[in-house]
Amino acid sequence: MKITLDHLTKKFPNRDKTKGDVTAVGDFCFDIPDGKLIGLLGPSGCGKSTTLNLISGLETPTSGRIFFGEDDVTKLPPEHRGIGLVFQNYALYPHLTVRQNILFPLQNLKGKNKLSKEQMNEKALEAAKLVQIDELMDRKPSELSGGQQQRVAIARALVKMPRVLLLDEPLSNLDARLRLQTREELRRIQQKTGITTIFVTHDQEEAMSISDEIVVMKSGIIQQIGKPQDVYDSPANLFVAKFLGTPPIDVFNGTVKGGKLYIGDEAVLPAVGVEDQDVYVGIRPEGFILNDKGAFTCQLQNVEVMGRDTSVVSTHKESLNVTIRSIISAENKVDTASKDVRFDLKPYKVFLFNKETEKRILFGGQLAADVPAEMEESLDTAAGRTDSQSK
Ligand code: ATP
Repeated sequence: MKITLDHLTKKFPNRDKTKGDVTAVGDFCFDIPDGKLIGLLGPSGCGKSTTLNLISGLETPTSGRIFFGEDDVTKLPPEHRGIGLVFQNYALYPHLTVRQNILFPLQNLKGKNKLSKEQMNEKALEAAKLVQIDELMDRKPSELSGGQQQRVAIARALVKMPRVLLLDEPLSNLDARLRLQTREELRRIQQKTGITTIFVTHDQEEAMSISDEIVVMKSGIIQQIGKPQDVYDSPANLFVAKFLGTPPIDVFNGTVKGGKLYIGDEAVLPAVGVEDQDVYVGIRPEGFILNDKGAFTCQLQNVEVMGRDTSVVSTHKESLNVTIRSIISAENKVDTASKDVRFDLKPYKVFLFNKETEKRILFGGQLAADVPAEMEESLDTAAGRTDSQSK
């Protein structure tokens, strides 16, 4: 089921009456393709849950419309939308067994949708098998682990074979190992059922690992939509660049002058195609190449060997991060007695951002890279480049 969110906006009245309404979701436009898993990602309060609640019908939009396929469902109550919902707290009925919990949504079906007892049991078992809890059908929720309880909640959401599955931070209550396992399982179930799924999380790694596409939000506004790797490799602005990646991107104050990028006094890269200006420079931790004669000098703090990779921790007076983390192959040897450490930079791992708008500025080889047209347009504007310069 394809979902279309058409200029969706939700405003809440401000508790402080002297201030204007709170825009939880602002002009959200997105076509969610059929059968895909979409990760809604952003910091706390950015409007992820409100977006999900609008899609489920638990909230009504202030303006804008929602379509499931060709059907306008904007005014349809949640129970008629054909959705399955899973929340962070599993909200299972404690006095009911696993089987009874899963059966619950089927027992409420009325009219032509009403099922016989056999049909209901068959469907409940099918859903339980899908999430691999069919052995636990007679237990009560208190006799299950957190991961098993969450699987019961997923089975309960799946039992009616919803048109759309909505998951709000479904893994937050699980410990690290179980989180990893359950997220892989979620992906497997989603691919097996082919149900269009929207998954809300503030955990970028979680969203990136299982989503077909991610939507990065900030203050109710979409910052970027795309395949996880594309968004990581080509962030539209500084917020997105900082939000994605572990360890996080290293950010510096820099200057473009005469076609060169300077950090401090050092010209660290050619910056062809960019007007002279001050910029933010984002460098992915894997964008550093250790080189005694490298163009970029940082002050060495310490070296952490992590098996396959080495993390070089350093500082620089133009760095916005307290420390800079550079990930290099463990085969490289760092002279730990040295005060300084020098690097060359991989140009495609270096991003420039406009100091005012914080939008990305393409430079050098990035100008020729395969950048979506609409993104190139916004990047061009940010860079202050004219048409003739950008081609
Ligand atoms: P979290 O990750 O913390 O759950 P979120 O990204 O899901 O956050 P929302 O819960 O959608 O964010 O909230 C978005 C904004 O709308 C926040 O500023 C929040 O305070 C505000 N908000 C949400 N619900 C209401 C409400 N019922 N009344 C007033 N403001 C609200």
